[in-house]
Amino acid sequence: TPPELLRNFCIIAHIDHGKSTLADRMLQLTGVVDSRAMRAQYLDRMDIERERGITIKSQAVRMPWALEDESGTLTPYALNMIDTPGHVDFTYEVSRSLAACEGAVLLVDAAQGIEAQTLANLYLAMENDLQIIPVLNKIDLPAAQPEKYAEEIAGLVGCDPDDVLKVSGKTGVGVTELLDRIVQRVPAPHGDPDAPARAMIFDSVYDTYRGVVTYVRVVDGNLSPRERIVMMSTRAAHELLEIGVTAPEPVPTQGLGVGEVGYLITGVKDVRQSKVGDTVTNQAKPASEALGGYSDPKPMVFSGLYPIDGSDYPVLRDALDKLKLNDAALVYEPETSVALGFGFRVGYLGLLHLEIVRERLEREFNLDLISTAPNVIYDVTLEDRSVVTVTNPSEFPGGKIMEVREPVVRATILAPAEYIGAIMELCQQRRGDLLGMDYLSADRVEMRYQLPLAEIVFDFFDQLKSKTRGYASLDYDVTGDQAADLVKVDILLQGEQVDAFSAIVHKDKAYAYGVMMTGKLKDLIPRQQFEVPIQAAVGARVIARETIRAIRKDVLAKCYGGDISRKRKLLEKQKEGKKRMKTIGRVDVPQEAFIAALTSQ
Ligand code: GDP
Ligand code: MG
Repeated sequence: TPPELLRNFCIIAHIDHGKSTLADRMLQLTGVVDSRAMRAQYLDRMDIERERGITIKSQAVRMPWALEDESGTLTPYALNMIDTPGHVDFTYEVSRSLAACEGAVLLVDAAQGIEAQTLANLYLAMENDLQIIPVLNKIDLPAAQPEKYAEEIAGLVGCDPDDVLKVSGKTGVGVTELLDRIVQRVPAPHGDPDAPARAMIFDSVYDTYRGVVTYVRVVDGNLSPRERIVMMSTRAAHELLEIGVTAPEPVPTQGLGVGEVGYLITGVKDVRQSKVGDTVTNQAKPASEALGGYSDPKPMVFSGLYPIDGSDYPVLRDALDKLKLNDAALVYEPETSVALGFGFRVGYLGLLHLEIVRERLEREFNLDLISTAPNVIYDVTLEDRSVVTVTNPSEFPGGKIMEVREPVVRATILAPAEYIGAIMELCQQRRGDLLGMDYLSADRVEMRYQLPLAEIVFDFFDQLKSKTRGYASLDYDVTGDQAADLVKVDILLQGEQVDAFSAIVHKDKAYAYGVMMTGKLKDLIPRQQFEVPIQAAVGARVIARETIRAIRKDVLAKCYGGDISRKRKLLEKQKEGKKRMKTIGRVDVPQEAFIAALTSQ
């Protein structure tokens, strides 16, 4: 297809604002999926996506759409819809998807208004010079307020409120007009067809049968089957075994030219060899310069991950290896814990990424897992000026420390104006600095804060939601780091450190953490035959203490003498229980107690 007849666009929307439903309607109206083959959320392939209603990996789909001009001639266009992941953790992938498009449909629920992540993605799209097509969705809802929100969106996009299309993905109202408008407003792609090939990778997915499927947008030149290509960041060369478009099932083609969007298959087995943001070129006639913007994904949040049943450790290791084939951002290394046994320290892009990885491991590999409280990365400068990077709090160096640096984010919060006070209070408790505030309309505000990432990974979003009755939305981006007064709090059982509970916290919060953790463990650890002190300490200084009183526990006492077989059973049961005990110093603790302490945070 010549570039003049191509339109590449994405849909920017908040979770639940109806992107998948609208995509379904577009697939039906353009005839690429007939009504019989249609199932809801056609493009959301992963089970977990359907169940949680979120799109984790972006997809691209090609649809034909003909438009009549003034003279009455029908011109056939090809629309490429590139789906973008809708969550903060995947901002980098969103920005790559945006870079593959000339236009973006800004889709907003007409009963909700725009949310923080959508606003952040809208700004990203505007920075990328994408043509924005503002759309209010779900206008069939009785609670819809299209006039009010059209004003709000028009103000943000800088257009007339009458330019905001009003549609319903559910009933199909307005979707034809939307497809027409995409053809009319989104600019055709342009590039140099005679230049060496340059294609940007905006997604890379591992498929059990086909190996890695790489989704690209061709910028210059063209790619054809059987030729050899080079990934510019790694210089690795591969043969193109298959090249094609998704419509919405894969259809092999004879090549992809300027502006086209499609997939490549090279026989590569690991997504790290075909990285989002990288540039693909031709080995015979290579481009000299890569397309801008590639960077390696950086894990920001770390947590220990352990099988609840220790014998599952090899299964967990294999499962992580498999998952990594499909997730270039996932990093992990083996770790052992006195409390939890053998496991891994895993690095994630953020909290949602953590949840998704854990849920996929449990679901797809049938594992029961426990994770330690998530923490961020700290750079610790020692007295001799050397810098240690800490991803596990129990490895925080002792001795004299010059400085500790922690990552900070720029957060955007959108909420009804009546919650300004509550939000300010929460952000202050979390060591936030207000950077600015704007009214989106008479009763909705956008607040911008600088906050330590560590304060966000710990239940910030839940708190924000509960303090605003669910109305606030949050987006954040890691922007740098700052020096802070941070200390490590250790939890000790009879003087022995319980590694899984060490935490790095702000000096002012060390006491609260110590009291909370010692109190919790006191309730969870069964009494022993001797008294057991539970202490929280910063270095050698104890800041909180609880005591488990001694008891003499005699399981046979319950049996009133008589039934021998019952006694034996009880003894066996106790032996069984012993196997799952972790010994810290002289104290036997059932692993369940540690697990309970970690999960009830
Ligand atoms: P996504 O998270 O943006 O992909 O949103 P979905 O397409 O999964 O839609 C979220 C929810 O909104 C689902 O329950 C849909 O049935 C519902 N929904 C989507 N579009 C419409 C619409 O136009 N009208 C109404 N009434 N409900 C809609
Ligand atoms: Mg969806």
